[in-house]
Amino acid sequence: MPTPLNATNSDIIAMLRDGHSNLRISRELRCDKTRVARLRIELGLSNVVLQPLTLEQKWATKTRPVEGGHLEWVGERAKTSGTPVMRYKEVGYSPAAVAFRMKHGREPQGYVRAECDFKHCVAPDHVNDEAGRQQARLARRAERGMGALPTVCVSGHDMTEHARLEPDGTAYCGLCKLLDKQAKRDPSIPRPHRQRPTSLEEALRIHAEPVDGGHVRWLGGTSHSTPRVWFNGTTYSAYRIAFRVQHGRDPEGQVRPSCDMPLCVAGAHMEDRPMRQRTNSLYDAIFGAAS
Ligand SMILES: [Zn+2]
Ligand SMILES: [Zn+2]
Ligand SMILES: [Zn+2]
Repeated sequence: MPTPLNATNSDIIAMLRDGHSNLRISRELRCDKTRVARLRIELGLSNVVLQPLTLEQKWATKTRPVEGGHLEWVGERAKTSGTPVMRYKEVGYSPAAVAFRMKHGREPQGYVRAECDFKHCVAPDHVNDEAGRQQARLARRAERGMGALPTVCVSGHDMTEHARLEPDGTAYCGLCKLLDKQAKRDPSIPRPHRQRPTSLEEALRIHAEPVDGGHVRWLGGTSHSTPRVWFNGTTYSAYRIAFRVQHGRDPEGQVRPSCDMPLCVAGAHMEDRPMRQRTNSLYDAIFGAAS
């Protein structure tokens, strides 16, 4: 038995053409909603939009100002991460990305999020896209005088491609981080192979980053305010190794950098006791020992 029709197709089509929603038509004409929907598709008519607010207006109704210029998201959140999410006209949006578009008037490049101290903040002034974040971090790096980015990471990856920056401007290898993450997610994937230093010089180089002014920043550990290199179960003073690499001989007495950059391990800036004494007597000869 075919389902009895309680409205003619032309009745439905007339209402569709008048711009009513499927629900309203099916209620008014006492007919099946799927039948209305099918006719709508056949006629190529789009669904009736009941959302009276714009995306930005809906976004605004889900935010709450927080002290410090932050904006708290009071709408829906992703279940595990707690990241703000929203739907508008059946499409999912990132509230942070909406905030970015409101502020910059363009589509963001990459993931949008805030770097302020309020978690999941959606304040348009606090969010940034990938490009903006890298720019801000590069500026921070320049401000701190941290110099050019390293060209190779400890695992030998090309840093001109994989270098990423922490909020404070410190560089790290994006590929190493990705491989670490994958290994954590799937324990069957072998841990990324860390380049094990085969010599003391290499152990030194792994933790050293050349910076402006011929200095070399120490990124490794220290003890008693001296950079320390760990190699084959023993720790060495990075100053002594840098000295030996530079001069091809073992230093005499204590080795310290002669420059003014703290913990600099540039070979050319290392001085041992005899060199310091020579510098001092040279200084005395020029400026007078007891003038
Ligand atoms: Zn904020
Ligand atoms: Zn790497
Ligand atoms: Zn130096």
